[in-house]
Amino acid sequence: MCEQVIPNPPNIIAIDGPAASGKSTIGNLIANRLDYICLDTGIMYRAVACKALREGIDVFDAEKISALSERIKIDIRHASEEDGRQFDVLIDGADHTWHIRSPEVNQVVSEVSVYPRVRGAMTELQREIAKNGHIVMIGRDIGTVVLPDADLKIYLEASVEVRAQRRYVEELGRGKKVCLVDIEESLRHRDEIDSGRSIAPLRAADDAVIVNSDDMTVYEVVEHVMRIIAQR
Ligand code: C5P
Repeated sequence: MCEQVIPNPPNIIAIDGPAASGKSTIGNLIANRLDYICLDTGIMYRAVACKALREGIDVFDAEKISALSERIKIDIRHASEEDGRQFDVLIDGADHTWHIRSPEVNQVVSEVSVYPRVRGAMTELQREIAKNGHIVMIGRDIGTVVLPDADLKIYLEASVEVRAQRRYVEELGRGKKVCLVDIEESLRHRDEIDSGRSIAPLRAADDAVIVNSDDMTVYEVVEHVMRIIAQR
């Protein structure tokens, strides 16, 4: 495959979309192709949820969760192990790369992401990271709230059935015992909270390009997005 070099690609690229729509996979591949950094902001909300569970903090305690989000230290570094991880995720210095992906965290991450102070703390960090440009940032509210002036906004969507099936195959591939119905249920639960919250709900920005990946492979989505980038 001959990869075309794109002159002057958009400096800041936002990719939003619902849980398991492939944002992280696609975003990382696009960032690699452009030699950009990639930040998956879901990791940050997952880190807050993970730390809360580990410290026994009630996720419905807005004050405690907000205070936690303002003191937590999240480091995302190059993968130190070859166990399928894309990065190391350190929370207050400890490796929680896999804990943040656990079903327990999946179950409560959308609850902690609703609190205004949690969103404020994460948004501030995200804007600081985006300051130097050459970045692909992935999330739910990047194009609408975090980086409304992003040079390109992609909204990646897929039906809940397709997303659940993909996540199911991915987890099986990691040797996990998983149930398709539970995965679909968990995705629906997160979709509902993420799109229904009053602050920074999941939605496509008015100027976002919508990409539906239901009938596309990862390779096809990447090529499609690269064509959109080339046309900017
Ligand atoms: O993308 P991922 O599924 O890892 O995100 C986990 C959760 O973090 C989402 O379901 C959502 O509740 C929250 N999130 C958010 N805003 C973002 C990124 C993630 O509210 N920008």
